[in-house]
Amino acid sequence: MSRHVFSGNPLDRGDVERRDEDWLKQAARDPRSRFLPLWQLNILLQNIPLTKLGWLKPTDIEKLAFDDPPVFLGLMNGIPHFAVDVSALTEPLQELGLEETWSFVEARSAASQLTPEDVGILAQGKAQVDWHRRHRFCGLCGGATQPARGGQVRKCIQCNSEHFPRTDPVAIMVVTDGERALLGQSRGRLARSGRYSALAGFIDQAECIEEAVRREVKEEAGITVGEVRYHSSQPWPFPYSLMIGCHGKAVTTDIAKDDEEMTDVRWFTREEVLSSLAGRNPNLRLPDPVAIAHHLITAWAEEKVLF
Ligand SMILES: [Zn+2]
Repeated sequence: MSRHVFSGNPLDRGDVERRDEDWLKQAARDPRSRFLPLWQLNILLQNIPLTKLGWLKPTDIEKLAFDDPPVFLGLMNGIPHFAVDVSALTEPLQELGLEETWSFVEARSAASQLTPEDVGILAQGKAQVDWHRRHRFCGLCGGATQPARGGQVRKCIQCNSEHFPRTDPVAIMVVTDGERALLGQSRGRLARSGRYSALAGFIDQAECIEEAVRREVKEEAGITVGEVRYHSSQPWPFPYSLMIGCHGKAVTTDIAKDDEEMTDVRWFTREEVLSSLAGRNPNLRLPDPVAIAHHLITAWAEEKVLF
């Protein structure tokens, strides 16, 4: 199986270099260095005419004042790459001196226009900038925090504690009963678009992946799950999740859905799912290939998951 959208970032994250503050300072001024601006979490793109990430040079941003120094993303062919939060600007394109071929684009929409490698970089930049925006103060003492190690840590200036970038694990699973798969429609985005997808939920503290799969399916659908198998995972930078894709074998089949979270949960036959994937089933809309759910559903429908 090919890798999922948002993975495949080609940058070397430069763990040795980022621990050297002098190296970082020099890299930020290096004329070869590239800076990817994010404005209110929208990504700068350039259309020339193909759409690319909108990399700027150090001289393009040196006169602007930012809350935080740029985040060091990593190296490619020895060239330092950074993300920079330019949300403080009122008219970002104008203030950065950019013409009409440049634009700030929402991450999901940008992802659909870029190469897989650029989408991987976009995911890292967005997740890191978003995390920094949300962690300006220490959770222990309330003091201000400052980034270090090129953005891989924030240190409290008052109590010295270190805070590291978060990744929130989400279990996402297709539960099956022989020739049927359990799919649901959660309130919100899925219900609005009329799609059915894999069930999913955040993994709790002190819970393993298998336990999270069984608990979420029990809560959302009232179904008991036995065997659980890992399939694949996907970084999901909204704001910084990791989707952990699994298949589960149903032990019970009577659905009792969680009315608060779900508008519908149903068993669909393999035939219904296959015809939907082939674009021949107007009664069942499934997630697009950008989402891991699409691939979990497809793997089961094509009989690549055997319990
Ligand atoms: Zn503190």
